[in-house]
Amino acid sequence: MDCLFCKIATGAITVTRLYEDDLCLAFPDIHPQSPTHILIIPKQHITSLAHATPEDSALLGHLLATTATIAAQQNLAGGYRTVINTGDDGGQTVHHLHLHLLGGRAMHWPPG
Ligand code: AMP
Ligand code: ZN
Repeated sequence: MDCLFCKIATGAITVTRLYEDDLCLAFPDIHPQSPTHILIIPKQHITSLAHATPEDSALLGHLLATTATIAAQQNLAGGYRTVINTGDDGGQTVHHLHLHLLGGRAMHWPPG
């Protein structure tokens, strides 16, 4: 499958691996939208949140819990935002499930 984030997960494309375990990987977003902008991906290919199944529940929980751990390591004590864009209307451009961790500045609401 020709998937950018699968290539990053396998190491075929090199990124700065900020965190890694058996299930997931975190690396900086190439076009950061805030001083801290990190992507957290499952190593397993899941096209989007809409493609996740109840069998993925433990993995999804692991992604969220890992994101909180990474946020704590990134000195985001003032807060941060987590985003999962899903599908065309959600603004998803890379079709491998990923979680954005954004911080280092005040966020606005509603998002665009
Ligand atoms: P989304 O729009 O939610 O699908 O987010 C995809 C994100 O992947 C965007 O924020 C891109 O800047 C980011 N991105 C695309 N290619 C790379 C890459 N090679 N390394 C790191 N981040 C990337
Ligand atoms: Zn993939």
